[in-house]
Amino acid sequence: MERTVVLIKPDGMQKKIVGTIIDRFEREGLQLIGLKLINLTQEMLETWYAHHKDKPFFKDLSEFMKKTPVVAMVLKSPNAVNRVREVIGPTDSTKAPKGTIRGDHGDSIQMNVVHASDAPERAEFEISLLFKSTEIFG
Ligand code: ATP
Ligand code: MG
Repeated sequence: MERTVVLIKPDGMQKKIVGTIIDRFEREGLQLIGLKLINLTQEMLETWYAHHKDKPFFKDLSEFMKKTPVVAMVLKSPNAVNRVREVIGPTDSTKAPKGTIRGDHGDSIQMNVVHASDAPERAEFEISLLFKSTEIFG
């Protein structure tokens, strides 16, 4: 069994597709074991996006991520990290195939509706940043 983290970003919140997105993962066989709304702080974003901190788009990206609360969830299944990344599609929504969450609902490389962990170790790190152990059920 593997765990992964998904965030529904402010564009997904504003489009009111939280239920649609969770439904896609549940239909794919992933089990929801953690779920909450959270306001990301600048400090959290600097940790979360440390690999992008010196990029020209970081300021805009962090402003975007603070626009509304985000939904944070933990999903569990065999091979969860790769399965979720297949369901969401590639980073750039304009290049994501129809049938993926980003292809169906995203607008751009920044406004791409969801975040998902890119490796099992990274998922565990993201879980520790967002959730207490008592908030995970499974
Ligand atoms: P995520 O981590 O959100 O699942 P990802 O792993 O597909 O996305 P990363 O390279 O980790 O992509 O980038 C994290 C986020 O930073 C992207 O989802 C996107 O919102 C933003 N981003 C990445 N590259 C760019 C860019 N060139 N211009 C603007 N925003 C970008
Ligand atoms: Mg990433």
